[in-house]
Amino acid sequence: MRTASKKLLLTIIFAALLITASALYLNRASEEDEYEAEVRRLFQKVKADTESLRNLTSTNPINLKVVDISFFQKDTSDGVDELDAAREALYKSLLLVPQNFSIKEYKKERAGLVVAAASAYTLYIVREYFNPHSDDAPRILAHEYTHILQYNRAKHSKFLTMDSQLAWSAFIEGEADLVAELYTSNKTGRLTSTMPMPKPPKSGINKWFVDQLTLFPYIYGLTFAYKIYVAEGWRGLDQAHVEPPTSTAEILYPNLYLSGFKPAYPNNPSPPTSGWRIYYPDVLGAYFFNLFLTRTLDSEEALKATSWWIGDNSTLYLNEEDLLLYWQINLSTDEQAKTLKQMLYSELSGALSKDGRILRIDGRNLAMLTQDTKLLIVSASNPSLAEAALRDLTHKGFD
Ligand SMILES: [Zn+2]
Repeated sequence: MRTASKKLLLTIIFAALLITASALYLNRASEEDEYEAEVRRLFQKVKADTESLRNLTSTNPINLKVVDISFFQKDTSDGVDELDAAREALYKSLLLVPQNFSIKEYKKERAGLVVAAASAYTLYIVREYFNPHSDDAPRILAHEYTHILQYNRAKHSKFLTMDSQLAWSAFIEGEADLVAELYTSNKTGRLTSTMPMPKPPKSGINKWFVDQLTLFPYIYGLTFAYKIYVAEGWRGLDQAHVEPPTSTAEILYPNLYLSGFKPAYPNNPSPPTSGWRIYYPDVLGAYFFNLFLTRTLDSEEALKATSWWIGDNSTLYLNEEDLLLYWQINLSTDEQAKTLKQMLYSELSGALSKDGRILRIDGRNLAMLTQDTKLLIVSASNPSLAEAALRDLTHKGFD
C-alpha cells in the first residue's frame, strides 16, 4: 500500500515535470518563432527601402537565416594558416606587435563577435546579439543587404596584395555604411568628410596595431564612399565597382582616387648572401606605413608623411632561422625620403651600433637607407646579418 502510493506520487511528480518541461519548451519555441517572424518583417521593410534608395534589386531570392553565437565561433580552425604565420613574422620584424604575439589567438578572440553577416545571397542574423527592436536594427540590416546587392555585381579577380585587399574591403564596407547611414538619415552622425586619425595607446602597443589594421575598412571606408557620393553621386560608386581603388592611399585621400592615381611600386634588392628564399612578398600600403610611423612619430607628423606615399614593396626573406626584411617606400621627393630617415633615427628608441646605423630594439636590428625618392627599411633577426645587408646595399645600391 505504502509502496503503491509512493509509486503513484512519483508518477504524478514525473508527469508534472514533463508537463512543465514541455510547456517551457513550447513557450520557448513560440518565442523563437515570434523572434524570427519579427526579424523577417523588419527585413522585408528594410530590403524594399534599401532597394529604392540605392536603385538596385537583388537578382536572386534572399535566404535569411537566424543562427546562434556558436555558428560563427565554430569557424576558428586549429590548422596553421601560412599567410597568417608570414604576416605575424612581418609585424614582429617591424616591431608592430610584441614578440610573443599570436595572430591565431587574436583571431580566436575576435571570432564570435558577429551580430549579422551576409554571404552571397544568405543573410545571417545572430539571435543573441541582434535585437529587432533596437534603434540600430534597421541600420544593421541595410548594411548587410547592401553587401548582397554588391554581390550581384561584376566579380573581380582576387586582390593580390594586403594594400589592394584593404582598399577593396574599405570600399565595400564604406558603401554598405553609406547606404545604411543615408537610410537611417544619418542618425548616428557618422557621415563626415573628416578623416579619423589613429592614436596609439600610451603604454604598450599590444594588439593596437592589428586592431587598427583589422578595423581599417570600417573606420575609413565610409569617409571614402561619402566623398565619392558627394562628388559623383551613386554613379561614382557604381563606377568604383568597375574600377575599384587599389591602394589604401586612395581610401585615405579620395581625391587621389577621383583623379586616377596609380601607385609606383619599387623593386626590392636581393639579400647579401645566397641560401635565402622569399618567404613573404607584399605591398603594405599607405595605411600600414601610417601605422608604422605612428608607432614612433606623433600622429600629425605621421599623417603628413603618409600623404607622401606613392608606392611600396616589402619582401621578407627566410634562411633557416634567419629573417631579413626589405621594405622600400617610394615617396614624392628625395627630400621627404631624407627627412623621414632622420626622423626615424632620432625618434626610434633603441641601442645604436657603433657606426650609428643599426638600431637594436626588442631583439630586432633595424636600419634605414635612402636613394632618390626611396626610403628602405631593413630589419634583420641578428646584428651581423644587418651589417652584411648594409654593406651590400651601400655597395650595390637599390632600385
Ligand atoms: Zn559589412
